[in-house]
Amino acid sequence: ISSEENIFNEELLSEMPAQVAEPSFLNKSHEKYSSPAAAKEHNVPEEISKVLENKVVETLLGLCHVNISVVKAELPNYSHGDNILTKSISSHSDLITGVYEGGLKIWECTFDLVDYFSEAEVQFAHKVVLDLGCGAGLLGITALKGNAERVHFQDYNSMVIEEITLPNVLVNCVCQNGDPSLEQCQKRDFNQDLISKCKFFSGEWSGFSNFLLNSNTPFAKYDLILTSETIYNPDYYEALHDTLSKLLKANGCVYLASKAHYFGCGGGVLPFTEFIKKKNVFNSRSVKIIDKGLKRVIIELVFKNPC
Ligand code: SAM
Repeated sequence: ISSEENIFNEELLSEMPAQVAEPSFLNKSHEKYSSPAAAKEHNVPEEISKVLENKVVETLLGLCHVNISVVKAELPNYSHGDNILTKSISSHSDLITGVYEGGLKIWECTFDLVDYFSEAEVQFAHKVVLDLGCGAGLLGITALKGNAERVHFQDYNSMVIEEITLPNVLVNCVCQNGDPSLEQCQKRDFNQDLISKCKFFSGEWSGFSNFLLNSNTPFAKYDLILTSETIYNPDYYEALHDTLSKLLKANGCVYLASKAHYFGCGGGVLPFTEFIKKKNVFNSRSVKIIDKGLKRVIIELVFKNPC
């Protein structure tokens, strides 16, 4: 894992209790979960503007082509020790008692994949899309802005979904023109049509696919599954593979962005592609290699026998 800059939440991370400040793969606790986070759906609150309270909206430099905005939580008064992050954490038991999987920062392969989408002119229109292990959700937001029919966002931690993904998606469902400062956003209407295309889920991968497949609401499999920096831990490959194979449409496609190696974790492109080969369910091919700094790769997976 590189030590690149946090894009938008250094304050968030520095204010977190020590036990949750580091993702599991950095604090070496990357063995299988003893009690995995149960899968659940997070509804969009009725009072949407409340989600953006105490948030600072910024537009990411270098991403003008997708016009993506992100939010960060504002920590009003550090000295009181009762800032909104502390409150947020205490309402998310998975971060107090469990594992934090890293979605509070935007990892660099997300940007590689967003660049690739525009270079390769990947089409999202009318597609049903999953941003798997979404963190800030920029991949799903890119699909949403590309007129996807539906976009689902999944992250391990419920706090990530509620404090980062959901606000990010909402802030990208307003402010069509210019710089989306929060003030501007609050003055405008949210685009309900766009919001209604999105669903949000937290929980561990195996539980997530079972949750969707066993739900009372009919579930249409995904045309595209987008996932970035999710193959650092070989212990999760079985659950990841199972999720991809159960949730992808027969003629669907997975775009996966990863560092070549995750030092100290054992995961990376080679172990993952060997795992895929052994399973004999997907064909995998590297569609782009980025050899600047830490080597990174974009992989495409399609079913071997689409039937
Ligand atoms: N995709 C985001 C990015 O590139 O910025 C976040 C990457 S973060 C390093 C890894 C993400 O994978 C976490 O946010 C977590 O949600 C997800 N993840 C990893 N292992 C998981 C598992 N076993 N079950 C569910 N989610 C998992």
